[in-house]
Amino acid sequence: MGPAHLTLARDAGACGALTLDEHLVGASRTRSTNSLVTDSAAGATAYATGHRTYNHVVGEVPVGDPNDVDFTSGSNSASGATGPGPGPVTGPVRPAGTIVEGAQLAGMRTGVVTTTRVTHATPASFSSHVADRNDETEIALEQVYTLDLNVILGGGAAQFLSKDAFPERSARNDTRDLMADAKHRGYAIAFNAGDLNEAVAEIVRSGGIKGEETDQGGGDASEDSSTAAPFANRQFGPRVLGLFADSHLAYEIDAHEDSLAGFANGATPSRGDAEAPSLVAMLDAALVVLDAKFAEHENDEGFFLLVEAGRIDHGAHANDAGAVIGEMCAYDRAFKRAVEYVAARNDALVVATSDHDTGGVSVGCCDAYEVDVAKLNALKKSAEFVANDIVTEMLKLDGVVFDVPSATAANATVENAVRAIAIASLAAAGRDVSDASDSVGDADVSAIVAAAIEAIAAGDSVTHTYEGYELQNKIGEVMNRANKVGWTSRAHTGVDVPLFAFGVGAEAFRGSHDNFRVGQMMIDALGVDPVEGYKVFRDRLSIVDADETPP
Ligand SMILES: [Zn+2]
Repeated sequence: MGPAHLTLARDAGACGALTLDEHLVGASRTRSTNSLVTDSAAGATAYATGHRTYNHVVGEVPVGDPNDVDFTSGSNSASGATGPGPGPVTGPVRPAGTIVEGAQLAGMRTGVVTTTRVTHATPASFSSHVADRNDETEIALEQVYTLDLNVILGGGAAQFLSKDAFPERSARNDTRDLMADAKHRGYAIAFNAGDLNEAVAEIVRSGGIKGEETDQGGGDASEDSSTAAPFANRQFGPRVLGLFADSHLAYEIDAHEDSLAGFANGATPSRGDAEAPSLVAMLDAALVVLDAKFAEHENDEGFFLLVEAGRIDHGAHANDAGAVIGEMCAYDRAFKRAVEYVAARNDALVVATSDHDTGGVSVGCCDAYEVDVAKLNALKKSAEFVANDIVTEMLKLDGVVFDVPSATAANATVENAVRAIAIASLAAAGRDVSDASDSVGDADVSAIVAAAIEAIAAGDSVTHTYEGYELQNKIGEVMNRANKVGWTSRAHTGVDVPLFAFGVGAEAFRGSHDNFRVGQMMIDALGVDPVEGYKVFRDRLSIVDADETPP
């Protein structure tokens, strides 16, 4: 999220007045060690550890002075510009303690909540140490085994499902069943909003007894007492693992029949029990578990919680203003809920900011003194949804096989059929090819058809998400032209991002700070020691019990 995201959400979109605006205190400077343009791994690691690092690095920092900048590899161009895909680490790194490890050492409860995969760069930077953000197999393993996170909520079930039981869905590079392991370690498991409500109700009903005792997996509950021996002084507390999609959660604009209208007048659209919970619902569940008001018998040291509206970034990668505004609304509603929680007590602090701007979005473009708010609000679906819809409908075409040879030699009949699919899908999303004011030309449809055939030929499935997805990017561009919202990039940019704070110690955040300073200030505010915390938790992986899924 950058400054223009706020303007769009407040003044052009469905969210209306933003609670964020009431608590703006400054700016965070987002550069990484090796680039003025950070990725989420380096961006979030700065907040989690209080140290700068290289792009793509999660919870690890350069050896030496980690807050030095390093341009020696020419990385302000090449390595810094590779986006979220694989990229080089340009120097030796070492693990750095996180605010979560410091909090756990101090006896606090901890949690991560996100709308992306829970193994994605931002939550990963608060809960694992890996040199390459793409190593999500290892990130999930560390989340389950090395930390005592009480709350893990978001998407990314594919990183926890075993390859043996779910060969089609599992994204793991090993044969572990992390779902079973997590259950064994005392996590209540949730796959939808109803499960999450039930899990939280059960935790409250049982008085927040220790996680081991809530084990519903039939595993040997005594196992934890041996593997956890070095950490016997810590009470695990209740634990809940909610994974509501195989990959990222659906965009807000796609999650509701009436698109973003449910956000009008400060409301949050409601969802059914069978659906993924909203960001606010996940935050509410996390607060119940972490606050543990119901468990007065426990020595409550407080808690640390990370809440990420991670798909603001994804929508901006696709230059998709409708998707961005929906995610911004959800982010603001969650921030409002956190402010209400903090306001009701005298010992809490909420800090909000972002890892980086994405898209270099501008409010207005193309030499025009306007944004077409009506066109913006006419958007009903995300570019991701339209891309997946087109691919899904194409796969239903009778007798058409989109393999590589036929893709390059797509005949007129096939092309016309795909064209009709694309036009219908765009119309459902709020863009009418026959309406000149929607600025979608024949050439645009042809480009979408070509990208869709290429996508299927390349094996891109309906589960494909934003990264480097030409079909989605093309659709995003076409759907947004009429808005006159401008975009300068499909990657991140290095602009300073807004910083918000409310509660005890909020004054310290006033002004413009390096991102790692913001991390240090959060660590200071919580009064924890990440370095000592890391020392205590670093050997956790080496004591994984042989009884559990073999590596
Ligand atoms: Zn991004």
